[in-house]
Amino acid sequence: MERCPGLARRYWFPSSALGPVSAKLCFASETKTARAKGKSFEAELPGGRSQAELGNESKVRELFGREHCSVFSPPLTHGLLLLLAVVLLLSGSRDALAIEQVEFTRDGRTLRVEGRVRVEATDGGLLLESADGTLWTLQPDEIRQRTRDSRLPRPLTKEAIEAHLLEQLPVGFKVHRTKHYLVCYNTSYDYAKWCGSLLERLYRAFTNYWIRQGFELYESSGPLVVMVFADASSYRAYGKDDLGSAANQIIGYYSLRTNRVSMYDLTGSESSRGSKNQRGSAAEINRLLSRSAAIPLVATIVHEATHQIAFNCGLHARYADVPLWLSEGLAVYFETPDLKSKKGWRGIGAVNRPRLATFRANLATRPAGSIEILLADDRRLRDPQTAAVAYAEAWALNYFLIRHRPKEYTAYLKMVSEKEPLIWNTPEERIEEFKQIFGNDLDQLESEFLRYMRKVQ
Ligand SMILES: [Zn+2]
Repeated sequence: MERCPGLARRYWFPSSALGPVSAKLCFASETKTARAKGKSFEAELPGGRSQAELGNESKVRELFGREHCSVFSPPLTHGLLLLLAVVLLLSGSRDALAIEQVEFTRDGRTLRVEGRVRVEATDGGLLLESADGTLWTLQPDEIRQRTRDSRLPRPLTKEAIEAHLLEQLPVGFKVHRTKHYLVCYNTSYDYAKWCGSLLERLYRAFTNYWIRQGFELYESSGPLVVMVFADASSYRAYGKDDLGSAANQIIGYYSLRTNRVSMYDLTGSESSRGSKNQRGSAAEINRLLSRSAAIPLVATIVHEATHQIAFNCGLHARYADVPLWLSEGLAVYFETPDLKSKKGWRGIGAVNRPRLATFRANLATRPAGSIEILLADDRRLRDPQTAAVAYAEAWALNYFLIRHRPKEYTAYLKMVSEKEPLIWNTPEERIEEFKQIFGNDLDQLESEFLRYMRKVQ
């Protein structure tokens, strides 16, 4: 196994992100590697190129800063992998497919984790993905022992992941299984069931939508894990390492690191329950969450769940250079649920009124060439000062392209979906790849875009 030059700075995960002492999460032992309709763990590995350069800290923020997508900046002071080195992707090699058991010490505890080594640095640091999809960053001085296994990894069964989750979670948590999800909850069963139903409808609507658009997604290779806490305080305690000081302002998030969506029972929140403090039956939950005050809360959950599906069903690849205007604008496009529809999801593509209002309110001060700025890098969406307007523009651009240039948009999505993890594009490359599909004349596109959006009712 070749190694990259080294890790210039230390990286770490907060200890609370780790499982219990000596908890061992193993891949299934069979060597079956392919799923009938999807990608196996191996198939998800990048192929072809062998090297990726993480040239500066902003690139690392791209990688691990996108833990959630609220308009608040992700915490940049902890939980980040500060790789400032050329790293070697183990793509396509036997090493990339092999399972490793790694024993390490952290905070005086000995832990073991099993998974695929995604990146190895010359100083011995590892980026390891365990079978439940969690990413582990291990310092060279933490690692005590590494053992290579000849078995090939295979996604864990739902039952195995459920058992592991219950081991990790505080007493009182249960798991509600649906076709594609494991909903972990310590609130009422009815609420977990309501969430499962909402998520399954979204999953079906999302995948069907892209099939109709000519983009065949695949089934997630394992169950999607969603955490539902009974109240905001326990959710914030759980999410504080991911969200930092923003935990109080974010009601749900998708973590690229753990691959989970986390949220809390919205029927307990002030704005959704109104004057009556009550939680109850499915009908009562629906009634509470159909109130106008609750709509933005539900939309946030749908938005985060959309990210999770997109990153697990082939629309985007985790740790790849997915432009933020695309992933965020697309999630906003889907965040208008229709709770009255029990089977379908009639809300896809409905005009997002708050985003349209923000977009229009800022048209007068919108700089010329705004699209190019949005395409080039993610700063406008990450900066709390500019994020609200940038999210509105990202939604508007996706709305315009999906409806006005659907074939090109699908082609662009396919191109992005094929990007390999840890390969980061320059702003020039991002603009160029956009032009290759939508044409070279961005001024013309911008004029079309503005004309179209002015007519949207
Ligand atoms: Zn988002």
